[in-house]
Amino acid sequence: MSRLKILFILLLTVFCSVGSAQVKIRIFANQSPESAVFSVREGTYKLNLFKGELLSIIKNDPVVITKFNEKLIVKKRNSDSYICDSMILTGITGNDSFTLMMNGKSPVRQYYSGDLQCFPDLATLVLINISDVEKYIAGVVKAEGGTGKRLEYFKTQAIIARTYMYKYLDKHLADRYNVCDNTHCQAFNGLSDDTLLNKAAMETRGLVILDRDSTLIISAFHSNCGGQTSSSDDVWIAGQSYLKSVVDPYCTFSRIATWQKSIPLTEWIKYIRKSGYTGKDEDPSVFNFKQESRLTDYKAGSFSLPLTTMRSDLNLRSTFFSVFVNGDSVILKGRGYGHGVGLCQEGAMEMAAKGFSYRQIVSFYYSGVFISDIKNAVILQAGSPTVVRK
Ligand SMILES: [Zn+2]
Ligand SMILES: [Zn+2]
Repeated sequence: MSRLKILFILLLTVFCSVGSAQVKIRIFANQSPESAVFSVREGTYKLNLFKGELLSIIKNDPVVITKFNEKLIVKKRNSDSYICDSMILTGITGNDSFTLMMNGKSPVRQYYSGDLQCFPDLATLVLINISDVEKYIAGVVKAEGGTGKRLEYFKTQAIIARTYMYKYLDKHLADRYNVCDNTHCQAFNGLSDDTLLNKAAMETRGLVILDRDSTLIISAFHSNCGGQTSSSDDVWIAGQSYLKSVVDPYCTFSRIATWQKSIPLTEWIKYIRKSGYTGKDEDPSVFNFKQESRLTDYKAGSFSLPLTTMRSDLNLRSTFFSVFVNGDSVILKGRGYGHGVGLCQEGAMEMAAKGFSYRQIVSFYYSGVFISDIKNAVILQAGSPTVVRK
């Protein structure tokens, strides 16, 4: 058993054995803050500067935390400044939350629950929120879930976010936290007051999606599949049995279900030649290409080019498009938005609106999976390949 694997299992055991599972999130991870203002929103906090002295922090009693060389300066209103190596603010009532404000060109204020740990890094102030897993999950759904307002849709997104969190819990193991708050892990801009979101996380507490070997699935999702999802082996190198293409009748009504892009013929020919096309171009209709159901490659005569390459080269919304030459222009008529693998968010929202349950939605988009408590997950290996999910 590898060291990493043992650590990962240990981590899970710790999280799952203490009544309420907790996760360590590095917040404001890609903003390199030098200073932050902490204010109590609910409850009472205890400030520990590791100097043998504990300070009590209540509402309307902000604490300014600033990085100063390799130390922190902590300043409370009407009191002296303290210099320390690190600090932790711990909630003591069991229902404690705080706001954090970043000053700068565009000040940001977000709110969190649980504790806050701070220490200086070479270039920045490191802020780590130790939060209840379910509150974090509700926050992730707020940031990543889109605009759907149905409970069953939010439950679906909550299970997807939780599955992803547990699957990649070791991504930042060496950094003293579990996840960061940007899309490297999952977007998390603090907590939400939306009762539906919090209800969705609580009512699916601990639930994750497992494959037939009881391992956590790669819970990929995208905005809109355009009527058919992609198979993972057509988009990524490694295919997964549960990420198969499905025909989706639920998302095609949306305004982002179709798109169109026009490219001047001369530019198109330049691009296609640069990509290896050596055939003739006197009759441009040779470039016409029809994609009624999802294909993997664009074809013009004997020339072929992976659609994933074209999507990234031409900055297209999806790989699900047809090509029509029209005079001096080449028109790309496309369907869907995103890589198309896994769950289609707009299809899932519509399924929820039609009365499907989160279990039905999950099994519609992920083939042969089941939903179970995280305690039943088999952790095969740590450090699974990172997957770009949008
Ligand atoms: Zn991360
Ligand atoms: Zn769809």
